[in-house]
Amino acid sequence: MNWLRRMMYGRYGSDQLNVAMLVLSIALLLVSRLLRIRIFYWLSFILLVLCYLRMFSRNITRRHEENQKFLRYWFPMRERWYRMTDNLRDCRTHRHFKCRNCGQKLRVPRGRGKVSITCPRCGNQFLGKT
Ligand SMILES: [Zn+2]
Repeated sequence: MNWLRRMMYGRYGSDQLNVAMLVLSIALLLVSRLLRIRIFYWLSFILLVLCYLRMFSRNITRRHEENQKFLRYWFPMRERWYRMTDNLRDCRTHRHFKCRNCGQKLRVPRGRGKVSITCPRCGNQFLGKT
């Protein structure tokens, strides 16, 4: 792998943005194959070329800035996705109730039939179907 190291010397290499572009490029290629949409094939090709151009770029500061910009969008997006899948998983195992007295949100495991629920905040008791 010496030739590779020599070739990559002074060049930017890979980062998160490049990985994202590569994944998107492969996804577009698959979609273009499945739906036979030509434009997706070309988009995939362009992305791949851009990916390589970034990798072999000597303008390391500029590429680093691009990656930072990408990460500023990417991290909140990933965070939102994690929260969404967590909520979905929770919905299957728990039911959410709202105390009619104080508005406190309560979480009760599913599948216990009709149970008496006591609000931990105000002590209000009510029946709920799990
Ligand atoms: Zn309450």
